[in-house]
Amino acid sequence: MTLYIIATPIGNLGDLSSRALKTLEEVDLVLCEDTRVTKKILTSFQIPKPTISYHQHSKLTKSRYILEEIKNGKNLALVSDAGTPCISDPGAKLIDYLLENLPDLKVISIPGPSALISALSVSGFSADKFIFLGFPPIKKKRNKFFHEITDIEKTVVFYESIHRIIKTLENLKNVLDSERRVVVCRELTKKFETIYRGNIEEIIEQINSLPKEELKGEFVIVIEGNPRRAG
Ligand code: SAM
Repeated sequence: MTLYIIATPIGNLGDLSSRALKTLEEVDLVLCEDTRVTKKILTSFQIPKPTISYHQHSKLTKSRYILEEIKNGKNLALVSDAGTPCISDPGAKLIDYLLENLPDLKVISIPGPSALISALSVSGFSADKFIFLGFPPIKKKRNKFFHEITDIEKTVVFYESIHRIIKTLENLKNVLDSERRVVVCRELTKKFETIYRGNIEEIIEQINSLPKEELKGEFVIVIEGNPRRAG
């Protein structure tokens, strides 16, 4: 009984590792966030594998069903829509539930792409120590989130979607001083991959100069640690 936690591409299908591919071919069932997204990957690699969804709205009955499948001797894979499962998605809750009920379950990592690590690795900022903050809160605690970033001495990384990227960059402009360097990674590994570098005002200028119809995609924001705090 094994649950494989498999990283899938964040855009470029060439990033699916051969080990990930082999494991997907061998498991009995693939648990995914959105079956339509995962089926596209499976189809492009000609892997006709049954899938079931597990996402933030999944109920306890779904977790129980998955537990029963494992108890019946099936080997399962857990994947997310993109990148490494359980990074800013609900996978960890399922793993925790399964381990609580089946402490002998083998949970094996098949590592690979992750947007946060990719962004960090091209940022040029120190990644000896860094802080990952997931997505900024949408309402409550949003101001606190941005104010706290100003004082952090380590590199800060967080995710943002197309719906709130402009608002988030404007929020950052209100708290970051002009010496603080920022990198915004858009559509990593995809056709319209763009890395914006500069202080927050320069980045907003670059993004605002894009025609509205071109402002698409997924974003990772990386902020250099506060040099004054770092001493
Ligand atoms: N588990 C994923 C990982 O390991 O990267 C992250 C999942 S999180 C729900 C989705 C967010 O990751 C997006 O809103 C975006 O901020 C970021 N992201 C995913 N793919 C990306 C890409 N190709 N380029 C930039 N950011 C990306």
